[in-house]
Amino acid sequence: MMTKNYETIIGLEIHLELKTKSKFFCNCPNQETDKPNLNICPICMGHPGVLPVLNREVIIKALKLGLALNGEIAENCCFDRKNYFYPDLPKGYQISQYQLPLIKGGIVETDSGLVHLERIHLEEDTAKLFHQKESTLIDFNRAGIPLVEIVTNPEIKNAIHAKIFLEELQKIIRYLEISDADMEKGQLRCDANISLRPKGDKKLYPKTEIKNLNSFKAVEKALSYEINRQRKLWEKGNPPKYQITSGWDGYKTVEQRSKEGEKDYRYFPEPDLPPLDKKTFKEQGINLEFLKKGLPELPTEKRKRFIEEYGFGNSEAELLTETKKRAAYVEKVISELRAWLISLETVEGSEQEIWQNNKGKFIKLLLKWLINNLLVLQKKNQEIDFKVTPENFAEFIILMYEKKLANNLGQQVLNKMYVTEKDVDRVLKEYDFKTVEDKLELGEIILKVIEDNPEIVKKIKKGKSNVIKYLVGQVMKKTQGRAEPNIVQELIEKELKS
Ligand code: ZN
Ligand code: MN
Repeated sequence: MMTKNYETIIGLEIHLELKTKSKFFCNCPNQETDKPNLNICPICMGHPGVLPVLNREVIIKALKLGLALNGEIAENCCFDRKNYFYPDLPKGYQISQYQLPLIKGGIVETDSGLVHLERIHLEEDTAKLFHQKESTLIDFNRAGIPLVEIVTNPEIKNAIHAKIFLEELQKIIRYLEISDADMEKGQLRCDANISLRPKGDKKLYPKTEIKNLNSFKAVEKALSYEINRQRKLWEKGNPPKYQITSGWDGYKTVEQRSKEGEKDYRYFPEPDLPPLDKKTFKEQGINLEFLKKGLPELPTEKRKRFIEEYGFGNSEAELLTETKKRAAYVEKVISELRAWLISLETVEGSEQEIWQNNKGKFIKLLLKWLINNLLVLQKKNQEIDFKVTPENFAEFIILMYEKKLANNLGQQVLNKMYVTEKDVDRVLKEYDFKTVEDKLELGEIILKVIEDNPEIVKKIKKGKSNVIKYLVGQVMKKTQGRAEPNIVQELIEKELKS
C-alpha cells in the first residue's frame, strides 16, 4: 500500500505563573503552602462588593518577557471577563485578556528553528480541585495568582521541536527571573493543539487539544502518540471530523468532555480595572526603555558569545549556559585565570595578546575539570559555586596548568575541596596528598628505574628516543600513579643527559 506523506501542525498554549510577592489583584502572598485555603481574602474569593487592585509587579514581569521575546507591546489594552461556571472560579468569571493582549507576536529562537508567538496575555489563575471518590475538595490558594498565557503560532513541526521550544522558553523565563517555571509544581503548564494534513495541502483540519501536559517528557510523548493516532486515521481514509479535547494518562491520549466554544465565554471588558495603556504605565512609573535596557543577556546570545569568545563547542556552551548562575560562575573563573596569567612576570605583550595566545590551554583545562569533575559532583539543579567558589576553582586550574599535581591526584583534591568547601592550599596542607613536588622521592625512583634498565638506557642513548616511554611507565608504576607523566619524562631526559 502506498503511504502518503503527512505534515504535522502543532501549536502550544502555555500558562506561566509569575513569581511575585502578592497575587494579581489582592495582597495575599503569592506563595506555595501545604495548608489549603490559607492565602485567601475577600478579593480573591470573589466576595460581593470588593474591587480588584492591579499589582504593578505583574505588569513589569510580563513586559520583561514580552520585550525579551521581541513582542510588540500593546499601546492600548484592557482586561476582560471570561465567564464560565466551574467550582475552581469563585467569581464565576476569570479576569483575562481577550481581543487586546498585552503583547502581540514574539519569537523564540531554538537550535531546531524559530517559533513565532501569536500573543502573550495576562490572566489570573484558578483554584485547585482535588477529586475524591464521592466528593471534590477545593483549595483556593492558587486562585488569583498572576499568570501569563503564551500562545505560539501553529508552526511547530514535530514532537521533539515542541519539547525543545518549551525547554528554551523555560530557560529564558529563568534567566529573566520572572518565574521558577517548574513544570512539576505546575508553574509552567502546557496545552498542545495538534492536527495533520496531507503534504502540500494548506487547509487546517480539526485538531486535538491535549490538556495539562506537566513535564517535557509528557509533551513529547503525548504529541508523538497523537501524531501516530491521527496518521492511522488518515491512512484509513477516515481523518478527524471534529475538534476534540484530550488528556494524557502517561500512555495514551484520552478524550475528555468537549469544551465551551469561545462564544460561550461571553467575554466583555472588565469594568473594575483601568485600561493598560501608556497613561497607566506612566502612572505606575513603568518605563519600557528602562526595562529593555535592564534585560539580562539571554541564553541564546550567551551561548553564541561563549562559543565565539572562549572557543567552547556547541554542546559545551549549551551545558555551561544552562542556568544564568552557572554561566556567571564560568565567566568568573575565566576572569580569575586571565588576571593570574597577566600578572606573571614572565609573560610579555598586551593583556589582550597574552590572553589570546594562552587562553586555549586554560579553556581546555577548565572544560575538563568543570564538565568531567565538578559538574558530576554537583547534584541536579544544585549550583556549583556554593561548594567550590570560582576563586578556589581558578586556583585549582592554575595548579593543574603548572603541572604541580598529577591528574588522578587532581581529582582527589577537587573532591576534597568540594566536600570540605576549603581552598587548594588548605586541602593540600590538611590532607596527605603526595604530589610530584616531592621531587626527592621522585628523583630516587627515577634513578632506580634507570639503574634497573641498562638495555633500555642504551637504546635511548643510541637515538631510539621513544622507548623512553617504557621508563616513564616503570616510574608511574612505582609511584602508583602519583606522578605526572610529562614531568617524569622531563626528569628522565635530564638525568640521561647529565
Ligand atoms: Zn486575596
Ligand atoms: Mn488561559
